[in-house]
Amino acid sequence: KSLSAIESSEKSINAFTHVAAEKAIETARRVDAKRAAGEPLGPLAGIPVAVKDVLCTSDMPTTCSSRMLKDFLPPYDATVVEKLRVADAVIIGKTNMDEFAMGASTETSAFGVTRNPWDTDRTPGGSSGGAAACVAAGNVPLSLGSDTGGSIRQPAAFCGITGLKPTYGRVSRYGLVAFASSLDQVGPMAWSVPDVALLLQAIAGFEPRDSTSLNQYVPNYSEILQTTDLRGLKIGILSESSETEALDPAIRKAVQDAGEVFRSCGAELVEVNLPHSEYWVPTYYVIAPCEASSNLSRYDGAHYGHRTESIDTGSEHGPLVSAYCRSRDEGFGAEVKRRIMVGTYALSEGYADKYYNQALKVRRLIKGDFDNAFTQCDLLLGPVTPSPAFRIGEKVDDPIQMYLCDLFTVGANLAGLPAISLPGGSDSKGLPIGIQLQAPVLEESRLLFAAGAFQ
Ligand code: GLN
Repeated sequence: KSLSAIESSEKSINAFTHVAAEKAIETARRVDAKRAAGEPLGPLAGIPVAVKDVLCTSDMPTTCSSRMLKDFLPPYDATVVEKLRVADAVIIGKTNMDEFAMGASTETSAFGVTRNPWDTDRTPGGSSGGAAACVAAGNVPLSLGSDTGGSIRQPAAFCGITGLKPTYGRVSRYGLVAFASSLDQVGPMAWSVPDVALLLQAIAGFEPRDSTSLNQYVPNYSEILQTTDLRGLKIGILSESSETEALDPAIRKAVQDAGEVFRSCGAELVEVNLPHSEYWVPTYYVIAPCEASSNLSRYDGAHYGHRTESIDTGSEHGPLVSAYCRSRDEGFGAEVKRRIMVGTYALSEGYADKYYNQALKVRRLIKGDFDNAFTQCDLLLGPVTPSPAFRIGEKVDDPIQMYLCDLFTVGANLAGLPAISLPGGSDSKGLPIGIQLQAPVLEESRLLFAAGAFQ
């Protein structure tokens, strides 16, 4: 069913970079045989799952939607992919994204834009746009995305689905192609909170191959969803985010309405401040490009990835430098190059103190704001995005406008917190609106508990 749904919507949506039809059928048959034989089955038995093309898969290409990795077949599975297989999930294919997860609209993909199933003239958000669109289009019930600055939550909001960015370290990053290593997390996307909980359960947990993986107990997330009684829970509303002019009035209203729903479930609403929130975007756009420029230095045209066919042997810098430069020039798109340049500049001698080290200091202040807010409340409620899904082409030539899409999401990444984007209604054009809950480190269960009651 999933495969025929993909076939009928792929032309208009373009959510996938690779559909593994035969392998998926083979896995589904194997799971059926296990079931028929009465063998124990994993928690995702027979469920089709789509995987963002930033996660390594040993039996499917992993391109990061970049020409650089167009033909890359990893020799191993990412831990989360391995876990999907152990859970008996059926991996249906790889989903389209902004190149190397840099973007907020899935327009920087080397394989064409993905379209929003609610309105195909609009973007599905990004960078996990394909992973959100294929769930919204009814192709698959579950998908895995990655979130460095909002890439799970923002596309979930634009596509009217649910997406959770786990605590930094809750889910292994082994086999996740690195963008900004101190911010990246893998997380689940689905229609509903129980489905997100199910997928999170399957992928969470300590894993020694990721040095930042947290060796902490993983609770039973599905058990937590049994109640709509939120008495005793304090939900903080951010005074600054509800005041910012950049916020679409329909989204402001959706957040207020969500507050009322929480209140009707017994929660108490309190107003809180995050005084450094105006520095989230500038801090993120120093730290993320710095880490990206370092992580992307591995694509040198020699070890793997795209290699130019036109080495200038007469180059004044020698053939090796020419091969390096041309391979990178041909392999990377404009946004990736922009980030490499910004990051290299901000890390270079004489500037590192002014930019990178300064950003690290501000990051600590931002983390402190959250710590302080969570002494006054248990969860934070706010918007996910300043506006609903924008039109394809509207922001792609204006990086600053694109970066401002991350206004409400990058805080959780800078502070390493778990956060969820939930469908919170629609605007007058019928476009989905997302609302966001953020929780203290490792409190995914608290997020899911409140999100479940809301839904
Ligand atoms: N839009 C943000 C960026 O372009 C976030 C991307 C992400 O979370 N991968 O960096």
